[in-house]
Amino acid sequence: MSAPVPTGLAPGAMLGILGGGQLARMMALAAADLGIRCHVFAPEADSPAFDVAARHTVAEYEDEEALARFADAVDVVTYEFENVPAATAAFLAARVPLHPGARALAVTQDRLSEKRFVSELGLAVAPFRAVDTLADLETAAAELGRPSVLKTRRFGYDGKGQVKIAPGSDLAEAHEAIGRFPAILEGFVSFVREVSVIAARGLDGSFAAFDVCENEHRDHILAYTRIPANLSEGASLQAIDAARRIGDALGYVGVFAVEMFVLEAEGGLAERVVVNEIAPRVHNSGHWTSEGAETSQFHQHIRAVCGFPLGSTARRGHVEMENLIGASALRWRELLAEPGAHLHLYGKRDARPGRKMGHVTRVTDERA
Ligand code: AMP
Repeated sequence: MSAPVPTGLAPGAMLGILGGGQLARMMALAAADLGIRCHVFAPEADSPAFDVAARHTVAEYEDEEALARFADAVDVVTYEFENVPAATAAFLAARVPLHPGARALAVTQDRLSEKRFVSELGLAVAPFRAVDTLADLETAAAELGRPSVLKTRRFGYDGKGQVKIAPGSDLAEAHEAIGRFPAILEGFVSFVREVSVIAARGLDGSFAAFDVCENEHRDHILAYTRIPANLSEGASLQAIDAARRIGDALGYVGVFAVEMFVLEAEGGLAERVVVNEIAPRVHNSGHWTSEGAETSQFHQHIRAVCGFPLGSTARRGHVEMENLIGASALRWRELLAEPGAHLHLYGKRDARPGRKMGHVTRVTDERA
């Protein structure tokens, strides 16, 4: 019998990354630690990841000539954002391994297919209805009640492409506000906290999750992540089990995040989680792992997509990650002077309001 064909790569390999933002930048830095070189493909000439990558291509994701040259130059392709066009993913996957695969993208790019997928796994999600027309919205709002949340099926992030339907809201105006794009209406979840699970699945199906993180948003943008989350052990196990089932069902390879709402214990029910959203990539709520865990989410992702063994997800203490949004990154000098603060800046020139410029992590001894 011939030996099994090795599926993994070795140090020295070239990893292709679609997207050139801070997530790609931090993936490329982690890749370098493991002897992997990166080729970043992004349309913007000033992409922050270009500064730290061995090679880069500036081209549109629809540019098949550039994609073909890129595919020829790399051993495996990954991405930093879930809105990779399906045709781009298919074009690349026909030429070179693409991790996570096309199915993870197809399911998570569309809130309707994502909600259906998660609920078919038997996991709790907010009640939802598909909304294509104003008439659909009227029916859905009557069925799910108010408040509820209208979200575009595609291209929503950081609260964009969504509008709350309050008791007095005009439905036609709400439909207009999301550009009348195909959408879903979700019943409002009265959660007490928001948490996420950052997990990885290897090429061999191995699974490793970091401790559940608690997330605090300001103006729809993640402001702080704290670990451990204020969560019962039962709910925490439930959250990690949900991530494992999602990863397995997608045949996933790489790091992913599952954002969840926490419902308080009531009426004889224990505290529990409701899945909100899956991100098929490294995630802002996992940035704490760079100093707060044995293996960072970025190193874990590189390990997974290259077919290397996954690393330990053990936590190193109490951890807080603070996002530096817009002008708050101007505090860099003060943060550098703060004992125990680990500053990460993304190399973006303009500190525009709402723009993620960097983050800082603080790890404190659990026994202190
Ligand atoms: P999303 O874009 O789905 O991550 O939603 C952004 C934020 O809106 C979430 O982090 C929640 O704070 C809030 N939100 C989204 N969906 C719901 C819901 N069904 N019920 C209550 N709050 C929600």
